[in-house]
This record gives sequence, C-alpha cells and structure tokens, in this order.
Amino acid sequence: MRRAIAYPVMVVSGLGVIACFLLHVASFFESPEFGQRLFPKLFIGLLIVWLPTVLLMNGLTRDFRQRDLWKAALRGCPGWMQKTLWAIWGYVFFAAFVLPFLRGSNPGASPCGFVIFPAVFYSTSFGVMYSLLHADEIDAGRRCLNGHLISPLAKFCEECGAPTAPDSRNSATT
Ligand SMILES: [Zn+2]
Repeated sequence: MRRAIAYPVMVVSGLGVIACFLLHVASFFESPEFGQRLFPKLFIGLLIVWLPTVLLMNGLTRDFRQRDLWKAALRGCPGWMQKTLWAIWGYVFFAAFVLPFLRGSNPGASPCGFVIFPAVFYSTSFGVMYSLLHADEIDAGRRCLNGHLISPLAKFCEECGAPTAPDSRNSATT
C-alpha cells in the first residue's frame, strides 16, 4: 500500500523538480507574467505530493529521535542522491533570495526566484519517496565488522561495539 502511493508521488515529484528548473531558466528570457501564470500550477502539484510525503515520512521516521529526522527520512537514498538534494536546496535559496538581489529587483517581484522555490519541496518529496522504497533493504543489510545486524542509524554495533562495515550493504554473506 505504501509502495503503491510512493511510486507515483516519486514520479510526480521528479517531474516537478524538472519543471521548476525549466521554468526557472525560461524566466530569465520571458516576461514576469509568464512566471506568475505558471506558479499556481506548480503550487497545486506541490500540494498533491506534499500531503502523502508528510504522511509516509511519519511512518519512515517513527522510531527515530527528532534530531535524526532527516537522516532517518533519507536513509534509503544513496550518498550521491542526498548530496544532490543539499545542492538543490542550496541553489534554490541562492536563486530565490540572492539572485534577484544581484539582478537588482526585489525577491517577491522576480519570477526567476519564485518559480524555483517549489523545487525545495518537490526534491525533498522525491528523496523521501525514494528512501521509503529502498529503506527496508538498507535496514536489513546493515552489519558491523563482525557481521551482526545493527539498527538503521547506529555507527557502532549494539552487540559487540565494532563499527559499521564500510560496504555494509554487500557484506550480508557472513
Ligand atoms: Zn557486532
């Protein structure tokens, strides 16, 4: 059931990120009305993906402490994907708040800033949904150097104290 929701949400979110970036680039060449016309569409798409993301993320992070929330929510994503997410978030804040300033307009009035902003939510939604679909296999494959199963965010084995095996996803042969 969770997977049946997560797949389409992930696909829509991925398309949402792409749409935001395309519109962002287009907004450099088009009139301001262009961005203002399309922003409501991006926003409606966002409402559609964000609600299931929040609900499913609750299940994914239920057993974790608040300060580990994002680590837990994104634990099913490969490292490069997490880094890409941080990069997107960083770029969006740059584009939404710094870029309009550099171009000499105020942030609220500049379409290049606000059409890119939903990308923060779309990309987060994409990452959380991808993580949800892969967290089970990652959780099941986490082992210490001595081959004991360890819990999803632990750095050391609760049983023998050995650190996590570096290739813990592939070391399940022990
Ligand atoms: Zn151990």
